[in-house]
Amino acid sequence: KLHNIIQDLKGNIRVYCRVRPVSAAEAADAQHDSDMALDFPPAGDLPGRGITVSAPSGQSVQKHSFSFDRVFIPGTSQENVFLELAELVQSALDGHKVCIFAYGQTGSGKTYTMLGNRESPGVIPRAMQQIFESGQKLASQDWQFNMQASMLEIYNEDIRDLLSRKKDENKKHQVTHDANGVTTVTDLTVVDVNRTEAVEQLLAQAMDKRTVGCTQLNEQSSRSHMVFTMRIEGHNTATDAKVSGVLNLIDLAGSERVKESGATGQRLKEAQAINKSLSALGDVIMAIANKADHIPFRNSKLTYLLQPCLGGDSKTLMFLNVAPTREFASESLCSLRFGAKVN
Ligand code: ADP
Ligand code: MG
Repeated sequence: KLHNIIQDLKGNIRVYCRVRPVSAAEAADAQHDSDMALDFPPAGDLPGRGITVSAPSGQSVQKHSFSFDRVFIPGTSQENVFLELAELVQSALDGHKVCIFAYGQTGSGKTYTMLGNRESPGVIPRAMQQIFESGQKLASQDWQFNMQASMLEIYNEDIRDLLSRKKDENKKHQVTHDANGVTTVTDLTVVDVNRTEAVEQLLAQAMDKRTVGCTQLNEQSSRSHMVFTMRIEGHNTATDAKVSGVLNLIDLAGSERVKESGATGQRLKEAQAINKSLSALGDVIMAIANKADHIPFRNSKLTYLLQPCLGGDSKTLMFLNVAPTREFASESLCSLRFGAKVN
């Protein structure tokens, strides 16, 4: 397959763009802000890989074209999106380290893509189901798996445990990596899981936790990075072969630019932390893609935490989530530019 050959040449980083549908509220708006700002021309002769955004530039509107490994147009189902990354999820079971990120402004569909909802589950529940089912099938070939999940958020460069049962937890979590690339976060709750229902319970618990103690819950969650980690240890009882893989599924903080000049206090601190960590992530992925000698992992908590799972023979997928309408055209352009930089 040509696409796979290109992927091999490019390394282990791929970028998928996903455009959410126009919402009912947007469609009802009479200001023309709900007009589409996006076009989906084929990139070269490859369908489903091109996207053009018409963004305001001074008094006029300028078109900017991009191509990515995939472009999912509005209406693409969760199932069809998952089909394009099922192989990547599978490789975690084969002993690879995998990171899947969702990047985009608040309201662009990151959480819908990663978590989804009961009617339309997203990447995390589908990945779990696939891993458990594959693990069960491999049991007939003498494989035994031990799977552990953890869930944390990074807010203002501090780690919070989303699975801790304690309400007010003020522990400082430290991140360390051992020589084998095994990451430890001190005092982080790690849970053994072996079936989808167990993970669903964890997700629900984590979502509750993520909003505890804050009045504007949606606001708050959009300013933190959520990292779901599944560690998979496999042992073949017949051959004594061992594999150890990690799957990280990350719902990033909203990428919208907050004018640091206008913000004060807590809001300014948050904006600076988000800007810093998202640009650090872009720098790290770009340095890996360019095979740079120095990869600046230490520039943010997020990149430091994920260090063993980025670069080397690990695999990275970046979702660029974008909103389709004119209202958000310049933010969409920023997200597409971020994706083009790391692609
Ligand atoms: P974010 O996490 O980036 O802030 P959300 O995932 O919360 O954005 O999405 C914003 C709204 O749009 C939600 O109501 C969500 O259900 C809806 N939405 C996002 N993406 C899609 C999609 N692909 N199909 C249908 N609805 C979507
Ligand atoms: Mg969200």
